Order: sequence, then structure tokens, then C-alpha cells
Amino acid sequence: MNSFAYTRASDVPSAVHAVTANRDAALIAGGTNLIDLMKENVARPAHLVDITRLPLNQIEALPNGGLRLGALVTNADTAYHAEVERRYPILSRAILSGASAQLRNMATNGGNLLQRTRCYYFYDTATPCNKRDPGAGCSAVNGFNRIHAILGTSDHCIAVHPSDMCVALAALDARVRVAGGAGERTIPFEYFHRLPGDTPDLDANLRADEIITAVELPPKGFVANWTYLKIRDRLSYAFALVSVAAALELEDGNIAEARLALGGVAHKPWRDRGAEDALRGRPPTADNFARAAETLLRGARGFGHNDFKIELARRTVLRALGQAARGTPQSQSDKRIA
Ligand SMILES: Cc1cc2nc3c(=O)[nH]c(=O)nc-3n(C[C@H](O)[C@H](O)[C@H](O)COP(=O)(O)OP(=O)(O)OC[C@H]3O[C@@H](n4cnc5c(N)ncnc54)[C@H](O)[C@@H]3O)c2cc1C
Ligand code: SF4
Repeated sequence: MNSFAYTRASDVPSAVHAVTANRDAALIAGGTNLIDLMKENVARPAHLVDITRLPLNQIEALPNGGLRLGALVTNADTAYHAEVERRYPILSRAILSGASAQLRNMATNGGNLLQRTRCYYFYDTATPCNKRDPGAGCSAVNGFNRIHAILGTSDHCIAVHPSDMCVALAALDARVRVAGGAGERTIPFEYFHRLPGDTPDLDANLRADEIITAVELPPKGFVANWTYLKIRDRLSYAFALVSVAAALELEDGNIAEARLALGGVAHKPWRDRGAEDALRGRPPTADNFARAAETLLRGARGFGHNDFKIELARRTVLRALGQAARGTPQSQSDKRIA
């Protein structure tokens, strides 16, 4: 175990100051990802700044009719919050499909956004990995890459972002509130996470001195026609091979608005406006869904072991859109696993 200093921040400015003052400092919230990374020697912070006592643990109504989810509200409290269940069921469902009840009780909303990839090589310090050690090379491109990306990849990294919650947030057009040395700002969700390009060590467009304070949901929650469909190796306690958040607004038998976000296929939750545009103004038929899936996957590329994901993604999109159109999201029976 590497030794580290520990500070507990009592307000946002002191947390910002503590991470800015020390380049090797890391914020810790629920710790469900960071502590694992420290145990595996992947993360070696010299200073842990505990933010669990910051006043960011509320879910509040926004003046525009939306909802503000504090960064330190746990994933469990978010998913079971009455307003989230009632107005944003796709988000509640996506969160509850992830991890386990115990983990969701510890995991926070801010930490969920910034959890790191599950690429096997990233966790294995005996192998080269550009995300862990920039310039070292990528072991996955020509290695065992069954869980890796098929969209938005680069020669430097083909890792996927592992979050379920973020896929629903992308579909809902959420916004991320952050605070830093230069003040506060809001980042639209689709610009929060990054594609790997030639800097795969950077997961998000967050400056070194910034912390997430909240996630803001817009008023529209697509309560009638939605689905979060997660395909994985086991029915619980497994990350997505492919997941789809599909939300539709139907008017007079046609699709007035469509949202489609994919998880498990790229370095960030994947949205394609072209695929959504292909659905707008058309009836919710299998042919139209197939055209949207084709548009969405037109640039997909497999790396050998993960070739199957292209067809899996196509089928998952079709099934998710069909479920959303029928207003029959997946069974809710496993929703309250205490
Ligand atoms: C066995 C296992 C299975 C899992 N399965 C799933 C799954 O199926 N689906 C899924 O979506 N997730 C899954 N997870 C991941 C889990 O959801 C994340 O570990 C959790 O959401 C991280 O939240 P945390 O508060 O514990 O973050 P921490 O571990 O405390 O922090 C994670 C990162 O976020 C940073 N951070 C935390 N809060 C802030 C903030 N407010 N501002 C800036 N930076 C911040 C930390 O510095 C750190 O880098 C699984 C985890 C485990 C261990
Ligand atoms: S895919 Fe990314 S995280 Fe995995 S080994 Fe390659 S560079 Fe590292």
C-alpha cells in the first residue's frame, strides 16, 4: 500500500483549493472505484480529499421545471427518489441495472460520471496501457478485446465508458454543474466525456481544479415511451456489453422526438443525432427502427474478439425502440432488491 495524506473538505471552495494545491491529490466520494484502483496500484494519489461531507447531497426542483441531483447523492437515493421514479423512470432504471445494492448505497452521482474504464489491461500494471501510462501503447487493440469499443475508437485506446447511469443522462440531455478556481460552469452532457483520440488518459472535459457539484435534468423525462435495455454476460452484477437508452415522444401515431444513447460501445455514452433525425416524423415501425440502427452503426468497427458487438448493438437498438414504442419497458420486478 502506498502512503497518502487525508483531508476532509467541509465546503466546495476548500475541496477545490485542496485538489489545486497538490497535483497528486484526488477527490474521494463513495470510494467504490477509487479505492479499488489504489489497491491495484493503478491510482497512486499522494493526498485524498474526502468530499463526502460537502453540502451536495440534495435533490431539488429547478426553476425551469427540471431536477437538480446533487453530486453526493448516492446512486440508490437517486434511483428511488419519488420524483426521479415518477418523472425520469429511464434514469432510475439505468442506475438500478448497475452494480449491486451495496455498491449503489455507497456510489455517488459525481463518482459515477468519473468512474474509470473496466478494460482488463488498464487494471493490470504489468501490461502497457496508454490510459494509465500515456505513450506506453495499447494492449487491447491486438489483445483480448471482447468488452471493448466499436465506435469512436482511436489507435491509442479502444476502452469503453462503463456507466449505466450516464447512458440515460446522455439520452435525457442532462447538464453537469462544476465548480473550480475560475468559478462555476455548466457542461452539456454530450461534451462532458471525451473520445480517446491521442489523449486517452483524459476521460472527461473537466479541468484539474474542478469538481462536479450536480447533474441537472431538463423538464422533459419521456415518461410514457422509454426503455433502458442492458445486455450483459450475467443478469446482475455485470457491466454492459451493450446497453441502449431509448426514449420516444409519439404524436398522432408518429415519432415527434427520439432519443437514443448507447453504452458499452464507446469511450463515452454514444449518441448520434443522424439516427434520431431518421426517426422524427415517421411511424414507429420495424423498418424505421432498422434504418436508425443502420445510421447509428455506420462507422462501427470491431477488433476481433468484440466483432459480435456490432450485430448485438443493432439488435439491442431494435428491441429497445420496439419496447419504448409499445410503452413496455422491461420488467420492473427486480427494481427493489434491498
Ligand atoms: C464490482 C463493481 C461492479 C460495478 N458495476 C457497475 C455497473 O454495472 N454499472 C455501472 O454504471 N457502474 C458499476 N460500477 C461502478 C460504480 O457505479 C462506481 O464505482 C461508482 O458509481 C463510483 O462512485 P463513487 O462515489 O464510489 O466514486 P469514487 O470511487 O469515490 O470516485 C471515482 C472517481 O470520481 C472522482 N470523483 C468523485 N466524486 C467527484 C466529484 N463530485 N467531482 C469530481 N470528481 C469526483 C474521484 O476523484 C475518482 O476519480 C461497479 C463497481 C464495482 C466495484
Ligand atoms: S483500450 Fe485504453 S484502457 Fe485499455 S489497454 Fe488500451 S489504452 Fe489502456
